[in-house]
Amino acid sequence: MGSAVALSRPAEGASAEEWDDYLHNRDNPAGLSRELWYHNPCGSWIVVERDTATHEILSTTLASEAAR
Ligand SMILES: [Zn+2]
Repeated sequence: MGSAVALSRPAEGASAEEWDDYLHNRDNPAGLSRELWYHNPCGSWIVVERDTATHEILSTTLASEAAR
């Protein structure tokens, strides 16, 4: 997991604990991570699968398509 968990917003009526976890708690994996990157020139949010140990980029997807 990585910052792309922000695409999985808790449902309406979720508990304060679920919101706390969604807003504040992040794993910091050594290995595959799914991150949200912002590309400033065109204003696109991109889901990037990256290996945090090697910095290899494994895939990129527009966040608008990944959230479906
Ligand atoms: Zn761009």
